[in-house]
Amino acid sequence: MEFRALLIKYAEIGIKGKNRYLFEDKLVSQCARALKDLPVPFNVYKKTGRIYAVSPEPFDVEEAAEALQRVFGVAGICPLVQLPLMKPEELAGAAVDYMREMYPQASGSFKVFTTRADKSYPLESNEINCLLGEAILKAFPDLHVDVHQPQIRLHVEIRSEINLYSRVLPGPGGMPVGTNGKAMLLLSGGIDSPVAGWMVAKRGVTIEAVYFHAPPYTSERARQKVVDLAAEIARYAGPVRLHVVNFTAPQLHIYETCPHEELTIIMRRYMMRIAERLAAENGCLGLVTGESIGQVASQTVHSLAVTNEVCRLPVFRPLIAFDKQDIIDLSKKIGTYETSILPYEDCCTIFVAKHPVTKPNAGIIRRSEERLLPKMDELVEEAIRTAEVVVCG
Ligand code: ATP
Ligand code: MG
Repeated sequence: MEFRALLIKYAEIGIKGKNRYLFEDKLVSQCARALKDLPVPFNVYKKTGRIYAVSPEPFDVEEAAEALQRVFGVAGICPLVQLPLMKPEELAGAAVDYMREMYPQASGSFKVFTTRADKSYPLESNEINCLLGEAILKAFPDLHVDVHQPQIRLHVEIRSEINLYSRVLPGPGGMPVGTNGKAMLLLSGGIDSPVAGWMVAKRGVTIEAVYFHAPPYTSERARQKVVDLAAEIARYAGPVRLHVVNFTAPQLHIYETCPHEELTIIMRRYMMRIAERLAAENGCLGLVTGESIGQVASQTVHSLAVTNEVCRLPVFRPLIAFDKQDIIDLSKKIGTYETSILPYEDCCTIFVAKHPVTKPNAGIIRRSEERLLPKMDELVEEAIRTAEVVVCG
């Protein structure tokens, strides 16, 4: 069947009261962005609390739905037949034609759901349900009406035009990116942090990212992998500004000065400090990490507490209580897994002790860090000053 229009349904943004139009406008612009690369042009607009994507040419519904399935805030995507206002008898004929094309072998149960925004239409919603239901029953001997659990739900909307649809393809849910401030994602080349960024973006937050590398100990390919992951996130979240920080000098200084079992925790505290500085400079209101309780030594509750101590901004850890397998499943679903498992080195894994502390003591860690000063302050400033910004996606 040829479709030239989609009805885009949204869920949560419908409850935002006075600010609702802001959410709708963001959603409209992001749906338009997602559909822009398709072979046919789309006009995306809102009208009386609904969002429509309409094209002058027929299009591949599955392809358009796949693009919209990356737009947070979309709850459902309905391929739509739009008809001019017509008399009830003609509408009954059009409903039968629709059913013939959509379900040539239709059997099982159905129900007609009519809503009538145009109250001047000669029949009421229930009367339209009956009229169309009868016409469909007559045309399809193998169909019957089930008002409780119909297999086919034919929606008929009488507005300034008439909309017919019966398929609702699921959207990703969430809220439109750009409706909930900006956060700085600590993005490594691993499995977890891209998933964490995706989850926070899904709640409407614009994502900016920071990656710490340690050339020449980490390679150009490892850096490229993180750029690729940021681009994957951008497929959902829009372009991601990635700050690439050269962390070699601070890391070597820590390595040469501090007890080796404390390396990871001290390194992580400096990553958080630098990320927070970059966040503040770029208007981000929080940090995001892919940490999950107990996954590695630096993510015991004790370690997380000691790491968190250096931050003043809120740190969002959406994976905190996820099992690794659940994170892997999600990374496969969103498409970051294949890139994440490419075997390139990470700066954390290079300067790592055989037996890192799992229950660091904040006082001891602070004293170790004092020995890094004053040189460390200069190295941190230098790392921030020389950070390079790559726009991904
Ligand atoms: P991931 O799979 O996200 O790399 P991980 O299990 O390897 O996580 P860690 O190496 O302990 O865990 O890192 C915990 C979190 O710290 C990561 O999820 C990420 O948010 C951040 N992080 C770690 N390494 C880096 C890095 N090189 N650059 C930026 N952020 C990093
Ligand atoms: Mg990692």
